[in-house]
Amino acid sequence: MNNDLEHRYRAVSARIAETAHTLQATPPLLLAVSKKHSSETIRALYNLGQRDFGESYWQEAETKMQTLEDLDLVWHFIGPIQSNKTRPIAEHFHWVHSVEREKIARRLSEQRPDHLPPLNLCLQVNIDREASKSGVLPEAVLPLAKAIQGLPKIRLRGLMCIPERRGDSKSQQQSFRRLAKLGTDLESAGIATDTLSMGMSSDLESAIREGSTIVRIGSAIFGTRA
Ligand SMILES: *Cc1c(COP(=O)(O)O)cnc(C)c1O
Repeated sequence: MNNDLEHRYRAVSARIAETAHTLQATPPLLLAVSKKHSSETIRALYNLGQRDFGESYWQEAETKMQTLEDLDLVWHFIGPIQSNKTRPIAEHFHWVHSVEREKIARRLSEQRPDHLPPLNLCLQVNIDREASKSGVLPEAVLPLAKAIQGLPKIRLRGLMCIPERRGDSKSQQQSFRRLAKLGTDLESAGIATDTLSMGMSSDLESAIREGSTIVRIGSAIFGTRA
């Protein structure tokens, strides 16, 4: 089982390295999305050199954080955030990729403990305007960024998206391009960010082509499991 894990992990790392190399670009950070996978599997990946892990549910993450307390892991929250769940997220994570409301950003800033550095934060953008999907609409990104940028205990790092699932990688790539453009628009408005959290197991190459700085990879590393 660990052989398979190692094999898949190395294959994903190679896909990232090769794509970046071809583009002569800096390879993005590999965020291993460990939701629904065990602490033991996370530890095995740690032993292969992986440090950044993404979780979508606080309850599930809490158990893993306790079990893995002895490791210097970097935890990223990537799931939907209810306002009554902001406190543990503010206290235990290094990054949050899924902020879509001012109220949530304010609570995260207020609840971030003083002894910790500001929480790194990305705005989740509903880049393909899907009715079923979370995230701010593209035109709401700048107003939201302006509203939260001065908050003391968060640091706005950039934008995140989950594009609409489509068969062809060309239109997928268009979505990533539009997210990158929104990042540039922020910069023109005086809000400098350095992060585009985009690209998953099936489309990491397109995302890297459009300037991804963090790819969030689940199934290609962990395999598929019910
Ligand atoms: C589960 C998840 C991923 C990983 O998706 P894969 O297709 O398994 O790589 C990435 N981002 C978010 C927000 C997720 O919830």
